[in-house]
Amino acid sequence: MSASTPPAEPPVSEEELSVLRARYRAERDRRVRPEGNQQYQRAEGEFGYYAADPYADPEFTREPLEDRVEAAIVGGGFGGLLAGARLRQAGVESIRVLEEGGDFGGTWYWNRYPGIHCDIESYIYMPLLEEVGYVPQWKYAPGEEIRQHAQAIGRTFDLYRDACFQTRVTELRWDDAESEWIVTTDRGDRMRARYVVTASGTLSQAKLPGIPGIETFKGHTFHTSRWDYAYTGGDADGNLHKLADKRVALIGTGATAIQVVPHLGADAAELFVFQRTPSTVDVRANRPTDPAWASSLAPGWQRERRENFLTLVAGGAVEEDLVADSWTSSARLHQSLLPSDGYRDVAPEERERALEVADFHKMNEIRSRVDALVADPETAELLKPWYRYMCKRPTFSDHYLQTFNRPNVTLVDTADTHGVERLTETGVVVGGREYEVDCIIFSTGFEVGVSGITSGRLPVHGRNGLPLGEAWREGPRTLHGFYSHGFPNLFQLGPLQNASSVNFVHVLDEQASHVAEVVAAARRSGALRVEPSREAEAEWLATIREKAADLYKFHAECTPGYYNNEGRPRQRSESFGDGPVAFHALLRQWRTWGGLDEVLVEAADGRGWKESADAQ
Ligand code: NDP
Repeated sequence: MSASTPPAEPPVSEEELSVLRARYRAERDRRVRPEGNQQYQRAEGEFGYYAADPYADPEFTREPLEDRVEAAIVGGGFGGLLAGARLRQAGVESIRVLEEGGDFGGTWYWNRYPGIHCDIESYIYMPLLEEVGYVPQWKYAPGEEIRQHAQAIGRTFDLYRDACFQTRVTELRWDDAESEWIVTTDRGDRMRARYVVTASGTLSQAKLPGIPGIETFKGHTFHTSRWDYAYTGGDADGNLHKLADKRVALIGTGATAIQVVPHLGADAAELFVFQRTPSTVDVRANRPTDPAWASSLAPGWQRERRENFLTLVAGGAVEEDLVADSWTSSARLHQSLLPSDGYRDVAPEERERALEVADFHKMNEIRSRVDALVADPETAELLKPWYRYMCKRPTFSDHYLQTFNRPNVTLVDTADTHGVERLTETGVVVGGREYEVDCIIFSTGFEVGVSGITSGRLPVHGRNGLPLGEAWREGPRTLHGFYSHGFPNLFQLGPLQNASSVNFVHVLDEQASHVAEVVAAARRSGALRVEPSREAEAEWLATIREKAADLYKFHAECTPGYYNNEGRPRQRSESFGDGPVAFHALLRQWRTWGGLDEVLVEAADGRGWKESADAQ
């Protein structure tokens, strides 16, 4: 362990732990709502306004396409861009990215709210830095820099050439005779593709709380993922000058709100922050990139740095903590309390106790930080999170908590009323009191797991017209999370039956690289179909089940949120339990030791892929 190993913590007694457990349980019980996810509503229909694209050309039209590409990619965020880049590197010429937004960027296209930054270090989060020849300007990059980097990837890998923006894929249908997919869209397209990769994101559909009276509010309103700068003035750097005479309500205090609040507090005449559960707000310590460091980087530096972070946060040991931030210090704290190096050599009870003790110290530190930064003791009390560290998405800010010291900023706690009670024509009601406001901003997050093919929102018909939903009646079945029997040449990127990490873009890159290698092997061999057997699927399912981390108990004790399915934790995890490092090693082994042969299906007549005359 490096010199920056956390100092030894004082021992914690069983009694202290049990007092804390009881407090956590009580705080959870105050917030659990019997409706679970049903408390939210979609930003569609009469609320479609909240999800409209403020950036794209509303007049845009084009002729429908009926052509053929080798690879169609659904989604132009980092998943889709990585799939495109890795396929390009594998020699695929004909690639089309289909994207609902007006440009590449995904999350970073939609979210442009004031203060937007990525809270994972830029040098490991922003993909393909060495390939694009770029070193980010800050340790934690602003959203605009990340969005521009997404565009740079599009240019570097020539992905703009065939891209279709402002286009939503409405159906994927396998044509057995031609061994290719028919891709239909909301622009009347009916294009064909040998391979389809879906990368439609995990947190991409804005959600609204089902607050009674939400439709009656007569003031201005929008969701953070569609920030209305025409109303607020300013830009992602702040200076929201049009709010100088406005009373603003912000609903929600998750990772987005933590970044927005300092700007609203600085610029609005009055700001009311409606909180149901406080976030953990840890140290940010952003800083500009040291040019000497940037110019000293040797080839391969990004891979090494990403692996270092991934290993550490997945519970592994590293010689030196290269990223050295609040994410890794929590991971190191956990490890320092274990009796030996690494989590997996330790008996489960011993490990659980060490994790709980580490959590105890971490959360006390988080709560002490609130006392140190917030002047009013009552407000400070309300801002303290009472749950275990990973119950909710951790957040980081050196400005959020201090904003509550401003005279124009009021924190309104809604824990006892299970959130905001009601909206009226003129404001927000909590505890029987109406807070009159000119504008309500919803920082209420996104639907989880509703996009793409696994949710059924994008209908998929495989061989013999079989709908994916039917093939998965008893639950999803994949090999390694990527592909399914009966659905040839369809690859999905995402966490399902795969691996995950807080640096999810790294995981996406590993997935994209794997898919590109599989496609390259198919092209080399002339195989027309990539498709796992039922047996391979069944084996993978058994592996997932056997290795599944048992998070049920942990999540059942947590305050509700999207990590625990709003207080109704799922019995079974659908992720590879040994974590991403082991999963990536497993994929490498699988490719080296003949796995590819298992999924490549030869065409009866031996035909391989040939670019046809009408390919773009
Ligand atoms: P979240 O889902 O994290 O937060 C939604 C907030 O709305 C919560 O505070 C929630 O309270 C609150 N809320 C919901 N309903 C009500 C209600 N009826 N009354 C009052 N409050 C309510 O959304 P975010 O947009 O903040 O973040 C979503 C995810 O996006 C993050 O978890 C993270 O993964 C990602 N993100 C990443 C960033 C990065 O830098 N990498 C930055 C921003 C977001 P409660 O907690 O009680 O449910």
